[in-house]
Amino acid sequence: MICTFLSTMVVGIFMLQVWLTDRRHAAAGYWCLSMWVGSLCTLLFALRPAGFPMLTVGFGNALAALAYALMWSGFRVFDRRPVYPLVVLAGPALWCLGYLFVPQISGDVNNRIILSSAIITTYSLWMGVDIWRGRSGETLPTRSMSAVFFLSHGVIYSLRIPMAFLSPAALGSGTAYSAWFAVFSLELFAHTILAAVAMLVLIKERGEALYRQASRTDALTGIANRGSFLDDMQARLAGRAEGTLMIFDLDRFKAINDTYGHAAGDAVLKHFSAGLSHRLEEGMLFSRFGGEEFALFAPRYAIGRAEAFAEALRHEVAAMSVVFEDREIGVSVSIGLADVATFGSDFDRLHSAADGALYAAKEAGRNRVMRATPATALAGLAERMRAPATLATGVAITG
Ligand code: GH3
Ligand code: MG
Ligand code: MG
Repeated sequence: MICTFLSTMVVGIFMLQVWLTDRRHAAAGYWCLSMWVGSLCTLLFALRPAGFPMLTVGFGNALAALAYALMWSGFRVFDRRPVYPLVVLAGPALWCLGYLFVPQISGDVNNRIILSSAIITTYSLWMGVDIWRGRSGETLPTRSMSAVFFLSHGVIYSLRIPMAFLSPAALGSGTAYSAWFAVFSLELFAHTILAAVAMLVLIKERGEALYRQASRTDALTGIANRGSFLDDMQARLAGRAEGTLMIFDLDRFKAINDTYGHAAGDAVLKHFSAGLSHRLEEGMLFSRFGGEEFALFAPRYAIGRAEAFAEALRHEVAAMSVVFEDREIGVSVSIGLADVATFGSDFDRLHSAADGALYAAKEAGRNRVMRATPATALAGLAERMRAPATLATGVAITG
């Protein structure tokens, strides 16, 4: 009990630290409370030989139920599920009612064991089920193990109930004792340590998952960013013989910024990407490639079908009107296409071909779809070769 008291105390301090560092970890706040309530409860249990049963037994067991209820609430908060204050209070209240008003419970240690074990078993199993169910929303590496761990703790705790019948506790020197108490106390101690480790690891894994997600997402539009697109494309293109890459570039976007302001430009980018995201089909990759340029890979689309698809998207964009501060902004997009069947599955080649086609679409007057051909590829190459020359001149002048 001394070990459990000290360890829950220390774990509570860790949890407080986690919560204070980042208030988004509200679960850590619940777990901190749970640990401290648990440590107070263990302290009261340890003082049972000193007497004061109303405090050490009555209040102590109510605290034990509350500690588990708070731990359960922490897991609910962790998985963004609603917390039920009535269920949190139900366990401690049930115990208090039994202890205060049912003489068979206040007067018999084995009945007390049965009631408190039933309450704690319920919270533990519920916790295990909640953690397990959370897998559907988010697969954290330690989640399944934690669920199994809380479920098994619930099952082990429930064994106290048959043990109270099979080997009833007897009153020894002022405190109830039975041979199996030590085993269960040891399990409780081990569980406390492992629960704390599981919680801290889950918080860490959640943080890592969020950072990983953020590093793959474009902050403005919320769709995939260039890095994530390139990563996924490598895997998607390996050994593929079909598919078309489409590069989208909004027309005269600089003019939108200049006329309506940068915030209006941002609104257009968001509107555009949300509109296209709705049209995506299973397996397609869509990302903001940079500035007002977007990339879409349609894996099962040969060039003809891809062209029709891109044409439909272009029409949809041209029909879009973005309302920003009561002003209507018209948008159009040019799209360059390159297919794997013609240009192969090397991304750089495919991208450069699609880029050449996009350049040709711009040259031809914008608001149109162009597929890559040897001619567009050549023109695109020439355009790209011009860019470093301009840069070199710039450097020379500055130098
Ligand atoms: P074109 O039809 O030839 O594509 O002309 P354009 O004006 O769209 O092309 P240009 O490359 O000259 O200008 C792109 C502009 O996009 C310039 C840049 O300020 C703007 N831009 C890039 N990223 C953002 C952004 O995140 N928000 C806003 N509002 N503007 C952006
Ligand atoms: Mg551009
Ligand atoms: Mg543009």
